[in-house]
Amino acid sequence: MPERGDDGGTVWYGFVTDVTATKTLEHELDMHRAHLEELVQKRTEELETARNAAEAANIAKSTFLANMSHEIRTPLNAITGMAYLMQKSGATPEQTDRLNKIAAASGHLLEIIDSILDLSKIEAGKLTLGAEPIHLQALLDNVVSIMNDRATSKGIHLKADTVVGLPGVIGDGTRLRQALLNYVGNAIKFTQQGSVTVRARLEGDDGTSVSVRFEVEDTGIGIPPAAIGKIFHAFEQADSSTTREYGGTGLGLAITQRLAELMGGEVGVSSTPGQGSTFWLTARLKHCAPPGMGTGLTDLAQIEARLLVISPGKCVLLVEDEPVCQMVAEELLSNMGLAVDTADDGQQAVRMAAEKTYDVILMDMQMPRMDGLAATRGIRRHPGCQSVPILAMTANVFSEDRANCMAAGMNDFLPKPVVPDRLYAMLLHWLD
Ligand code: ADP
Repeated sequence: MPERGDDGGTVWYGFVTDVTATKTLEHELDMHRAHLEELVQKRTEELETARNAAEAANIAKSTFLANMSHEIRTPLNAITGMAYLMQKSGATPEQTDRLNKIAAASGHLLEIIDSILDLSKIEAGKLTLGAEPIHLQALLDNVVSIMNDRATSKGIHLKADTVVGLPGVIGDGTRLRQALLNYVGNAIKFTQQGSVTVRARLEGDDGTSVSVRFEVEDTGIGIPPAAIGKIFHAFEQADSSTTREYGGTGLGLAITQRLAELMGGEVGVSSTPGQGSTFWLTARLKHCAPPGMGTGLTDLAQIEARLLVISPGKCVLLVEDEPVCQMVAEELLSNMGLAVDTADDGQQAVRMAAEKTYDVILMDMQMPRMDGLAATRGIRRHPGCQSVPILAMTANVFSEDRANCMAAGMNDFLPKPVVPDRLYAMLLHWLD
């Protein structure tokens, strides 16, 4: 800016600023910014890759579990079916004893598979609870009747206290029963003498739902205080030494805990070593009008008798590719007086169903050439086959499998290994 000087001349001031440092800093800042953006981009890509890998691993795990379940259930179906048929066709007492052991071992194997699947399903957040009216007294009595033989064979008195003052509730009866069966099974396992008592009582009621506390008390070996904190963790047992006396996987309590949490409750135990334990769980259940006790499943002998009456002249199409499973099912059906035609795969089934009218079709899911879902759709497309009952009989037992079967046009679902009583009850339902 110009100024007037003493001598009247113009004085000019000039400023010189060295901007090298600023420019260098700006340049560096730009470089850093670009680098940061690059870094964020790279990290985002890495995260994306990791997430995709995790999702792929999760899908691979689920597929593996589904396949493993299927691959184990199929031979198990053959083993239990054969044992059942041998028993039915008359066996010596020694053979009966051995066949019973085969059945018990198969049942145990199945329990383990189911536990592993349940736990992984719960942990993947894939287990959704059903909602149906539950009669709590009937539920406790049912648990006792399922476990009574096991208790009696050890000389243990198993009983359910009478439920008083509880309203009718809505919840998932099957999962509640499973949680209680886990407790009762353990109570019997870890008790040498005395009793096991199951009870339920009201803990709270907010008008729309109740909190119910279930307890299973035993007079067994008890649990050392140091072990109490860990037994509800998966695969943990109070005694983890290799010389431990009792078998088991350490999954039952973990499953019971997860189920209780899904039902809005919690679990716990109080125990005195040498005197016994009381395991408890709470569940939040919605109110409903009390349902009737129901007559439950008709007795097996009655079901068989009724089936034998109605079966003459009725023909079943059995769709099954596995030869031993075929043999077992054919014999189970013909024992009830039913005529059986067998198809080895879906294609053959569609052809046979179009040529002859069947009273019921039993459909496997996984088969060569054409699977059970495609076969069902094919059969349903045939004008004469819209209403024939198609019942899935399959080792694909996930709820998605059941949903797929229903969506394809099947009417019912029987998981493998096939329990003859259930097969007969289902046949009676659809044939009678
Ligand atoms: P598992 O019974 O298959 O080992 P659980 O998860 O059901 O698995 O039980 C874990 C452990 O908790 C058992 O191994 C046992 O040590 C202990 N336990 C469970 N219930 C009882 C009981 N009623 N009495 C004594 N110990 C028990």
